[in-house]
Amino acid sequence: MSGRLRRCPRDMTYTLLPVCPACGGPTVPAHPARFSPSDSRGRYRRAARGWTI
Ligand SMILES: [Zn+2]
Repeated sequence: MSGRLRRCPRDMTYTLLPVCPACGGPTVPAHPARFSPSDSRGRYRRAARGWTI
């Protein structure tokens, strides 16, 4: 079955393990876009909560 593929966000290594065999970091599912435009919305949300640093 396909769909269990995971990817390391650090070195783009594809693996089936929850931990990257190359760098030992946590992997994320390859299908959903974890790093997407949600960051721009997060800025407004943080600003609305008063997280201005
Ligand atoms: Zn890695």
